[in-house]
This record gives sequence, C-alpha cells and structure tokens, in this order.
Amino acid sequence: NQRLAGKRAIVTAAAQGIGRASALAMADAGAQVFATDVNAAALAELTHENIEVFALDVRDDASVHEGISRAKPDVLFNCAGFVHHGTAIDATDDEWDFAFDLNVRSMWRMMKAALPGMLERGGGSIVNMSSACSSVIGAPNRFIYGTTKAAVIGMTKSVAVDYITKGIRCNCICPGTVESPSLEERLHALGEQVGGYEEAKKQFVARQPMGRIATADEIAALVVYLSSDESGFTTGQPHIIDGGWSG
Ligand code: NAD
Repeated sequence: NQRLAGKRAIVTAAAQGIGRASALAMADAGAQVFATDVNAAALAELTHENIEVFALDVRDDASVHEGISRAKPDVLFNCAGFVHHGTAIDATDDEWDFAFDLNVRSMWRMMKAALPGMLERGGGSIVNMSSACSSVIGAPNRFIYGTTKAAVIGMTKSVAVDYITKGIRCNCICPGTVESPSLEERLHALGEQVGGYEEAKKQFVARQPMGRIATADEIAALVVYLSSDESGFTTGQPHIIDGGWSG
C-alpha cells in the first residue's frame, strides 16, 4: 500500500525505537523519508531505498533549519523525547529545563522551521509524540515527563487551529508503554530498586490491561495513518494508543 507515495517526510529520533519503526513504515508506504537523529552511528544502520539519513539535533536551531531545508517535508514526525524518573520533590531545575527543551521546545523549533514551506506548498501533516502519561493519565514517578507530554497536546491543538484552513493538520499520539532501547534501560534501572529486571517488567506489563507492551511497529502504523491523506478529517487530536491503560 503506497499511501504515502509522493510525500516527503522528516522523522526526528529515527535511530531507534518508535522513530526508527516509523521511518521504515513510512518508507514502505512510499514516502521519501529523511530519517534524523543525534546518534549518527546508529542511523547509519538504517538502510532502505526510500530513506536518506542525516544527523539532526532537535535542540539546535541551526541543525533544525539545515535539516528542514534539505528535507522540504510534507510530513513532519516530531518523535524525539526523554523520560525522567521521579516525583515533583525529586525533580531538579536542570532536569526540568532539559526536558522542556527536548520534549516540547524542540517540536516548536521543528514546526516553526517546517510550517512556512508547508504553507507555500499548500499543505502538510505534523505528528507530535506525546504519551498516555500526560494530561490523559498520571503515571508514578513521571512528574517532569507527564508535564512535558501534556504540553505537547496543548501545542498540537494550538498549531492545528491556526492552520486548519491552510491544508495543514497537526495531531499527536499518546502511546502506553512501547518496546524500545530506552525502555530496556528504564527496566534495568527500575530493576535495581524492585528486585530485578523481570520484576520491573512485570510491573510495566501489569498496568497494560492487555497484559503486554506495544511493539514499535504498532505505533508506527498510527504514525503512517496520521501522515497520510486517509486521515484528512482529523486534526488537533491526541490519538491514544495504550492497550487500554487509560480506558
Ligand atoms: P528511545 O528513547 O529508545 O530513543 C530516543 C532517540 O532519540 C535516540 O535514538 C536518541 O539518540 C534520540 N535523541 C536524543 N536526543 C536527541 C536530540 N537532541 N535530537 C535528535 N534526536 C535525539 O525511543 P522511544 O522509546 O521509541 O521514544 C521515542 C519517543 O516516544 C519519545 O518522545 C518518548 O517519550 C515517546 N514515548 C515512548 C514510549 C515508550 O514506552 N517507549 C511511550 C510513550 C511515548
């Protein structure tokens, strides 16, 4: 199914996890994909005839502008984000500033750079990575993370409303827990507090009523849908894909 044929798509944080799976799924759907990340070494392993890779740091204005001029995207998938562990008491100023810069401001940076081209070309679709842990649901020890991901939902709605008559849609996605390299790191870290990796994994699985964690490919399928014209009547929405966690 070539439902993204003729579209140019840029993906941030595409070296691993959901970003990587989404870049591959978009490429399989016929898009010309620009897969970007700060981890150039891991990116180099992403090979597909429709994928071009280059380093892009979403926290750096010059890097963002260079990447957008090169990709000239019809589709922007803002995937980069970081998970902090801890409560409101644990959180530090530095962690807060870092998280808001990487999880929220970077998406604004990318959209601000990409929107003029989309307006010129008469349309576009933006997909921002939020989380079920946001304004949708609270999760333990996700104070900074949940706060930033709630901000992504607000930002998404604001952009959607401003460009709704210009052919540009802006949605965000709110996954539950998804298999990824950084999830593995979080499971190992939690395992040290709760008596091992397996116990940590059991706790994460227990909060998913389906009794399992999502695969990155399951999330990528939603990203492809929201990027394509098939989703032409949806904008400004958080799309929850959480195995029934918030249901
Ligand atoms: P991950 O956390 O394993 O990988 C993140 C990638 O981001 C890495 O390749 C890293 O190099 C890249 N990155 C870090 N800083 C960057 C920067 N400044 N510029 C560009 N790239 C940068 O991948 P994941 O777990 O699939 O998470 C991707 C997104 O999905 C994040 O926004 C995360 O919050 C969100 N999310 C993840 C889950 C989950 O359970 N895995 C659930 C909901 C939402």
